[in-house]
Amino acid sequence: SAPLLRVKNLQVEFNTREGKAKAVNGVNFTLEEGQTLAIVGESGSGKSVTSQAIMGILDIPPARIADGEVLFRGVDLLKLKAKEMRPVRANHIAMVFQDALSALNPVWTVGFQLGELFRIHRGMSRSDARKRAIELLDLVKIPAAKQRVDEYPHQFSGGMRQRVMIAMALALDPEILIADEPTTALDVTVQAQIMRLLAEIQAERQMGLILITHDLGVVADVADDVTVMYAGRAVEQATIHEIFEKPAHPYTKALLKSIPRLDVKGQRLEVIAGLPPVLTNIPPGCSFAPRCGYAQDVCRTDDPELLQFTGERFAACHFSSEVMNDE
Ligand code: SF4
Ligand code: MG
Repeated sequence: SAPLLRVKNLQVEFNTREGKAKAVNGVNFTLEEGQTLAIVGESGSGKSVTSQAIMGILDIPPARIADGEVLFRGVDLLKLKAKEMRPVRANHIAMVFQDALSALNPVWTVGFQLGELFRIHRGMSRSDARKRAIELLDLVKIPAAKQRVDEYPHQFSGGMRQRVMIAMALALDPEILIADEPTTALDVTVQAQIMRLLAEIQAERQMGLILITHDLGVVADVADDVTVMYAGRAVEQATIHEIFEKPAHPYTKALLKSIPRLDVKGQRLEVIAGLPPVLTNIPPGCSFAPRCGYAQDVCRTDDPELLQFTGERFAACHFSSEVMNDE
């Protein structure tokens, strides 16, 4: 049967004053039921745009889906009309965003906002909807849910607010949850708690989970597979274990070196020197070449394809084997 989600050759362009920017340039991946996929990269790598394309929430225009398919159980979501896509978003694919405060309405209690989902989409009575709201707050481990259900968003801490957002995303039992930098605004301990919560709920419900992040560290314990994105492309795809054990792309290696460590105080992180390319003006050859310590002449002329090179591993680098075997 068709996989839960399959993204094929996704291409998203933005028209800017400087020209066409290829924000996503031919990305492929598959998500199965019960699987957690991390999409990792710096800002501007195309990871958020990819998730927005899946959800059908890109601002169009200036964004344009130039090519590709987003197959949800075999159905291409990119072919659906807006009014056909709305129920998919309500019932099947949900999203948690980074900024919980701006996503919640400040003038309504969290219980009312959760309850509205059941009233609108499930036709529940006010009192049944309230009961379900309390159950959901329990599910995301908000203490004293019975009292807190009547509080307003500003009465919750950042971490608790993010739990409310997760509760809202889970309300209608989605089969896929996409979390875009869900913990970035939170301190490291709270980040770890939220990730653990997401992983627990994912396992319990056998959802497909897509975690979008710039920090490989926060997904180390929860992801099954990783797609590393750079300048709109997937540059490495592997299991989380393989990524940490033996990265095959210099960019992945650099991301690993920039993970903040809980156990080292005042450490200096290795920042990846240089900037990603301007998307309206991608240079020939490998787009990582200007920042890459492994770059040779061929890298500046020949664009490396994403190739399968061992087992289920893919990397887009002329020197993957060297990179893997180099400490
Ligand atoms: Fe670096 Fe060359 Fe590999 Fe690109 S192809 S990542 S420049 S070694
Ligand atoms: Mg983003």
